[in-house]
Amino acid sequence: MRFSRAFIPTMKESPADAEIPSHKLLIRAGFIRKKASGLYDILPLGVKVLLKIEKVIREEMNKAGAQEVILPIMHPAELWIESGRWDVYGKEMIKFKDRHDRDYALGPTAEEMITDLVRKEVKSYKDLPLNLYQIGRKFRDEIRPRFGLMRAREFIMKDAYSFHASNEDAEREYWNMYETYSRIFRKMGLVFKAVEADTGEIGGKFSHEFMVIADTGEGKLVYCEKCGYAASTEKAEQKEPKVPESRKENFKSVEKVHTPDVKRIEEVSAFLGISPENILKLLVYIVDEKPIAIAIRGDREVNELKVKNFFKGSKLRLATDEEIEKFTGQPKGFLSPVGLKIPVYADYSVVSMVNFVAGAGEKDYHLKNVNWERDFEVTEFVDFAEVKGEDPCPKCAAPLIEKRGIEVGHIFKLGTKYSQAMNATFVDEDGKEKPMVMGCYGIGVTRVMAAAVEQNYDENGIIWPVEIAPFEVIVIPVNVKKEEIIETAENIYDELQKNGFDVAIDDRNARPGFKFKDADLIGIPYQIIVGKKAGEGVVEIKVRKTGERFEIAVNKVVEKIG
Ligand code: ATP
Ligand code: MG
Ligand code: MG
Ligand code: MG
Repeated sequence: MRFSRAFIPTMKESPADAEIPSHKLLIRAGFIRKKASGLYDILPLGVKVLLKIEKVIREEMNKAGAQEVILPIMHPAELWIESGRWDVYGKEMIKFKDRHDRDYALGPTAEEMITDLVRKEVKSYKDLPLNLYQIGRKFRDEIRPRFGLMRAREFIMKDAYSFHASNEDAEREYWNMYETYSRIFRKMGLVFKAVEADTGEIGGKFSHEFMVIADTGEGKLVYCEKCGYAASTEKAEQKEPKVPESRKENFKSVEKVHTPDVKRIEEVSAFLGISPENILKLLVYIVDEKPIAIAIRGDREVNELKVKNFFKGSKLRLATDEEIEKFTGQPKGFLSPVGLKIPVYADYSVVSMVNFVAGAGEKDYHLKNVNWERDFEVTEFVDFAEVKGEDPCPKCAAPLIEKRGIEVGHIFKLGTKYSQAMNATFVDEDGKEKPMVMGCYGIGVTRVMAAAVEQNYDENGIIWPVEIAPFEVIVIPVNVKKEEIIETAENIYDELQKNGFDVAIDDRNARPGFKFKDADLIGIPYQIIVGKKAGEGVVEIKVRKTGERFEIAVNKVVEKIG
């Protein structure tokens, strides 16, 4: 591909709403653009990466005996009603009607769709086992779409579903997929762990999540270095808060109450005659240089410990009095979430609070009957109570290690949950009709792209693992006006293409520094810099990952890159 004609809109600055490196870099390097909350345009470089990820997945899935299908994204409601999930899946599912007033959903996952296909075609044990997969769009109206492709509302998933005549065979396939997934992520150059996990919305008997280790991961995992045990810990952040329906109806109007100079919870509680449980506590922290407010109930010392544990790996400290006043515009001790301009991270214990007391942001006043959602926004609900690292390993009692991770894949043994509900049966060898035993296996294709960046970047940009890089090599002529330079560069470009390399050439009429910056930002593993010595038949190779550079004869380039 020629950069002179390519659509690669790179940017110097990151967008303001991008919080984590992968989100920032994929936008800056011209891989994606935001369309609306949780919706992204994927630009040519992004498509190239996704196709490579899909290629690895297809190769390994096909090798493992699975077959590719394409099912509609539009799911008829009847199937979801049959499985019993139409009403229980929740607000994540996007529902709509067609012109005949029939109900549909945009598929968030496809157990019903695939079970419907298979029940119509498979009648005998002789037709089993079967593993069918698709790679396509999924839609989930996430409560908090964020981190770019990481948690989008429309994304690409590889979802596979297997059907079996027996429990044993379903289990065999489960471990076949476990091995296949391990190969897929290893091939992509990712550092990951497979952990025992919860089965969530999908349901079923047992499951494993494949977690790419990264400090910015929304998931947490613990593992034991001694015996290899690994498990994902509760991910409270992703749970939709269980808020009583009647909560909003019970909202009272906010009341400003004059208080003498009382600050400590016990004093406020005694003065207002309100239980300390109904007083919101706000702590201001500086996390990685940014101020945030923590809304939490309970003992201050314990809270500080929980917060510390939660932000393990980040630079964290309590804000000073001066900083509190500066960042919040409110006096310390009377901090109120109402009108607060910094993010508010609320502990799950706050979810159920109704009509509580909070400082008024003015000395000597408190606000009564404050309610989140009406009076202030919670940026994030998190579980500050979760402290799992260093607990003993359940298998061998050695201390567990806790890390953050990104869930890129999830495999489930479903059993007969869907086949029973949807009457997907077959006639077994013994002549008896039985429900098929199922498994399902997902990989977040677009999420993998973000996760790969989260694990591979430096201050200059992305460093793609070769297997999923948009290009393997980029040829950079430092001056396209100098004939021997551009000619040598074009020759190398042709030669690499002829030898089957995925190669780009930055043939733009631009300053070398500008081209080098872009090449580093985009993260192509090998750069071939064609400069002054082109006339002597010598060019330079730069390895993006190590920064290593060395000179090489033009006729040795293909051999060296290979
Ligand atoms: P999460 O816990 O992150 O919400 P999930 O457990 O709901 O994910 P699954 O139902 O297991 O997701 O779907 C299979 C895979 O699809 C996940 O492992 C993940 O890689 C991907 N995925 C799920 N939700 C999203 C999303 N909103 N954006 C991008 N990828 C997603
Ligand atoms: Mg989810
Ligand atoms: Mg999950
Ligand atoms: Mg999952």
